[in-house]
Amino acid sequence: PATGPADTALRARAQKVIPNGMYGHQSVGMLPAAAPQFFAEAKGAYLWDVDGKRFVDFMCGYGPNLLGYRHEEIDAAYIDQLRKIDAATGPSACMVELAEAFCGQVGHADWALFCKNGTDATTMALMTARAHQGKRKVLMAQGAYHGASTWCTPAPAGTTPEDRAHFIHYTYNDVASLEAAAAEAGDDLAGIFASPFKHDVFVDQELPDPAYAEAARRICDTKDALLIVDDIRAGFRMARDCSWQAIGVAPDLSSWGKAIANGHPLSCLLGSERARAGAEQLYVTGSFWFAAAAMAASLKTLEIIRTSDYLETTIALGDALRQGLAEVGRTHNVGIRQTGPSQMPLIMFDGEEGQVDYGLGEAFCNGMLQRGVYFHPFHNMFISAAMTQGDIQYTVETADAVLSDLRG
Ligand code: PMP
Repeated sequence: PATGPADTALRARAQKVIPNGMYGHQSVGMLPAAAPQFFAEAKGAYLWDVDGKRFVDFMCGYGPNLLGYRHEEIDAAYIDQLRKIDAATGPSACMVELAEAFCGQVGHADWALFCKNGTDATTMALMTARAHQGKRKVLMAQGAYHGASTWCTPAPAGTTPEDRAHFIHYTYNDVASLEAAAAEAGDDLAGIFASPFKHDVFVDQELPDPAYAEAARRICDTKDALLIVDDIRAGFRMARDCSWQAIGVAPDLSSWGKAIANGHPLSCLLGSERARAGAEQLYVTGSFWFAAAAMAASLKTLEIIRTSDYLETTIALGDALRQGLAEVGRTHNVGIRQTGPSQMPLIMFDGEEGQVDYGLGEAFCNGMLQRGVYFHPFHNMFISAAMTQGDIQYTVETADAVLSDLRG
């Protein structure tokens, strides 16, 4: 086996008591053989698997690790709150404080609904858009991920055509296809989902074309529909505000999760005044949605976001990685496709005739994993502010060694 004895033994046990041995995005089923399934420890920028092997972790938990695993100040805020009250018969004052903090931080936001997972937030966004004017049709970019509920999960098993009946797909960044989808919705358009940039698996990332973002805003204004930016993955990694702030387009709703409490379980839907009446009609709730400790962690996370240079740090680290890997690619005469914002890099390899060479990507990532760098072959990765330029240098040197091996 390509992973250690403790990982191998846990996989065998999991096979018996967990469907497929693991499920969802954290299943290593599609990852290179050297990717361990089970981990024992995480600190700062590093992960240790159950066999004690260390990795520089470029997946950051698929997003939650923004400022470093087990961040001392954030975890102290979490634990202090846990010692007073957490999930109980009613919320604590920190729910109001946190809603105020988000409304102060995110330009378009006038209110917040808190929940636990990204899918909770995108599902409430969908419901709010429909409740807004009682309309049904919702536009989504083809291939975009918005969660794993029946209306959005990428695999059709367990869903019905009716679950997907009122969704119309458009091509990201393509104004004509967005306009055609809006025309198809006619006077029944409830909302438009947009990812802050195109961060789909298996394909090169694309930054948003301002013309596309502006068209989405204009269509929603004309048809009295709601524009939803799904900032769950990119939130606070592009800006200290909604990710579309930089291009000057304000959504009516934005969904957040992953990094907002730096790893503690919390997500939220933020909305503008215009979307408030729709949100006020919904019945939405969850046993753990009002729990205080993750909210205390999020308040501390927002404070660090406002007062530190974490964003500039992650961009500088991402830029250094991108530049280092480009040089390694030139040395080995390998075309490395590095797309998207450098702090959320997707790294794939050129194949024949403009295609992606997924086989080379898998072999490359396998070599990186063997040498203690957790790279992903077809999903965007994440830079943590806990990484150092030394970690980046080690990663670039490792990439050089792996490509030397592969290119013989
Ligand atoms: N939207 C986006 C853009 C995401 O990246 C994700 C998670 N990968 C989700 C929604 C769903 O979030 P969760 O897995 O927390 O339900």
